[in-house]
Amino acid sequence: MSKKIAFIGLGHMGGPMAANLVKAGHHVSGFDLAPAALDQARSGGIEVAESAAAAAADADVVITMLPAGRHVLDAYQGGNGLLAVAGTGTLFLECSTIAVEDARAAHEMASAAGHRSLDAPVSGGVGGAENGTLTFMAGGSAEDFAEAEPILAAMGARIVHCGGPGAGQAAKVCNNMILGVSMIAVSEAFVLGEKLGLSNQALFDVASAASGQCWALTTNCPVPGPVPASPANRGYQPGFAGALMAKDLGLAVRAFEAAGVQARLGSLTEQIYRTFAEGEGASQDFSGIINQIRANSQTKETV
Ligand code: NAD
Repeated sequence: MSKKIAFIGLGHMGGPMAANLVKAGHHVSGFDLAPAALDQARSGGIEVAESAAAAAADADVVITMLPAGRHVLDAYQGGNGLLAVAGTGTLFLECSTIAVEDARAAHEMASAAGHRSLDAPVSGGVGGAENGTLTFMAGGSAEDFAEAEPILAAMGARIVHCGGPGAGQAAKVCNNMILGVSMIAVSEAFVLGEKLGLSNQALFDVASAASGQCWALTTNCPVPGPVPASPANRGYQPGFAGALMAKDLGLAVRAFEAAGVQARLGSLTEQIYRTFAEGEGASQDFSGIINQIRANSQTKETV
């Protein structure tokens, strides 16, 4: 059934996601602080509102796709905030990647204002947003999930209800920690193989069909050659930028601290990606970490 949807944050992800909602027959009123994002949104059939509040005022559903938790909480609260202007019982879908504790705070604020809400972060990147093939990881009640599912299905191929409030962000932060750690493991293995005189293709042929197999190796392979579509074959253009990996691992570290988890590899991976993202790695694909590992490795003849 066609809904009136307010979409706040029409950037790299939000713009194409909102356009897919229009294609699915929904009426989308959108807002972004950046004029360029608004121009792009218009070309995708989105009605541009004068403000976030104006977009949300008569919406059935309010979707946020903003940079970080503080942007979401700021947009939600205040006299002219999204929660105050939306009609009672509006369904809030918070799709940004934010800390689990911020997601839980957003749920509590929405509930206190008489609304329904899900945290529903995504994986799949800009390509997934454009093609409508994102994975959504949702946290909230079963009833709210059931109502949100057909809306999310217009933007994604896989919609998973992970549990109660914050469970979607919890799944996202755990998954991306696996991704960051495994990319470093794969990259260190390739650099070690190179030093031991092994060709990248030989290591790939063995590990991709053996117990070292993982997404970082077989889909996003950090060396050019074995997987033609991986970012390594196009100068490490993202893909998934180092800055975003550093951000997500920062959220993982916050979660370790809040939950009292000893995660030594996760913590070290966050430090490595934070340093990577302070330099040119910020805008490179996160698999470009292999070049830093190679550069930091001792210069010795092949042994
Ligand atoms: P982006 O920076 O391209 O888009 C964010 C947009 O929000 C910008 O256009 C900005 O102008 C706008 N904005 C900021 N504050 C605003 C406000 N108060 N009101 C209205 N608009 C506001 O970022 P993105 O790549 O689209 O990512 C959005 C979210 O999705 C982030 O939380 C990111 O971590 C997450 N994410 C990104 C990817 C990816 O590959 N880019 C993948 C998965 C998840």
